[in-house]
Amino acid sequence: PTAELQALDAAHHMHPFTDNSALAKKGARIMKSAKGVWLTDTEGHKIIDGMAGLWCVNIGYGRKELADAASSQMLELAYYNTFFQTSHIPAIALAAKIAEVAPEGMNHIFFAGSGSEANDTNIRMVRRYWDIKGQPEKRVIIARKNGYHGSTMGGGSLGGMSGIHAHGGKIAGITHIGEPNWWEQGGDMTPEDFGLMRAQELEKAILEIGVENVAAFIGEPIQGAGGVIVPPSTYWPEIQRIVDKYGILLIADEVITGFGRTGNWFGSTTFGIKPHIMTIAKGLSSGYQPIGGSIVCDEVAEVMGSSGDFNHGYTYSGHPVAAAVALENIRIMQDEGIIDHVRNVAHPYLMQKWQGLTEHPMVGEARLVGLMGSIALTPDKASRAKFAAETGTVGYKCRERCFANDLIMRHVGDRMIISPPLVITPEEIDILIERAWKSIDECYTAVKA
Ligand code: PLP
Repeated sequence: PTAELQALDAAHHMHPFTDNSALAKKGARIMKSAKGVWLTDTEGHKIIDGMAGLWCVNIGYGRKELADAASSQMLELAYYNTFFQTSHIPAIALAAKIAEVAPEGMNHIFFAGSGSEANDTNIRMVRRYWDIKGQPEKRVIIARKNGYHGSTMGGGSLGGMSGIHAHGGKIAGITHIGEPNWWEQGGDMTPEDFGLMRAQELEKAILEIGVENVAAFIGEPIQGAGGVIVPPSTYWPEIQRIVDKYGILLIADEVITGFGRTGNWFGSTTFGIKPHIMTIAKGLSSGYQPIGGSIVCDEVAEVMGSSGDFNHGYTYSGHPVAAAVALENIRIMQDEGIIDHVRNVAHPYLMQKWQGLTEHPMVGEARLVGLMGSIALTPDKASRAKFAAETGTVGYKCRERCFANDLIMRHVGDRMIISPPLVITPEEIDILIERAWKSIDECYTAVKA
């Protein structure tokens, strides 16, 4: 029974990113099974998953082919490592497959168990790269406020979330510039001018720190956990110009934007970014197995391979079962044309409906790229005002209404987010939008009262 499970959960299970004592009072909503875009909880409610779990179940729930790939691999070779000059077939096949779908010149994969671990790899890799090139003082990595790169010490330090830094501190040699969040921070500037201004903070930071000390810049093509902040069109071209001018490495964290989310294999393609390293996880296996990695360009891989061991790796780097599942996931994406499907349902179908939410008095901007979107809740659209502090987090209240209406949407402050499985159909989009509107409207009535 649900109540018994909730009591056991509260007694023994420490949840990530959760106020565990508040959860203990309320009781967790416990998911039991899922198919396609639909979750079923222990009470039998059918919930539409507007977040694909944590932005990861790209091909949808319940695909038997992935379960079969896992079970046959477990029986064939359940585990072996890729350290000390050994390898195995799933890791080899997956690395070659990722190189096939990755942008040109990005042909090398270093596997990890998650996005956080992959970003830890990146910190060590870019510093090692400059050591080998004879510039060991190049140590600093520039990242962005409100960016998210995971919650290991390395990933959490790259991320620009003060709440994470507050719990355990952050490692040295990482600095943060402003984020391209025009809606909240752009004031009277046009989005284009604001995008340029934010990108130029990178140049200022490089000059202040000294280019001889800067190893790399890292950013998500679209900030995901920061609120699905779609940057103004001027932002990435200017970042690229600066990175090229000063010859620092560019890391695109594609943990969310990779594997079809934005309507291309990678968000870097969508935004015309030319990274040296891309972080991947989540959609790589559609979340069916924990696996991540760094896709590395030819030049960086060549330097890394030119000077003995790279003293870094994880027991589960390229885990055979996870690799076999990821390979099957990519096969399904290719054979079923899932990226074409994203383009077909996102524009104009979902886009029109998503934009339609701005007809609600409490919804300001609505942004969408592929199947990744956000809306800004506001008491006054014209001035892009924030809610008064005493109103509490309206986004949180709205998310609670969604939950009650059997829709999973996430909130970041007063932004509401979607990132549904990429296989969502137009009929399911209709249900998602209908439930979103109803939830926003219920929240609006409560806030007005
Ligand atoms: N990078 C980005 C952009 C992410 O969104 C996330 C997770 O949400 C991570 C890294 C961390 O990935 P993981 O949770 O697999 O460690």
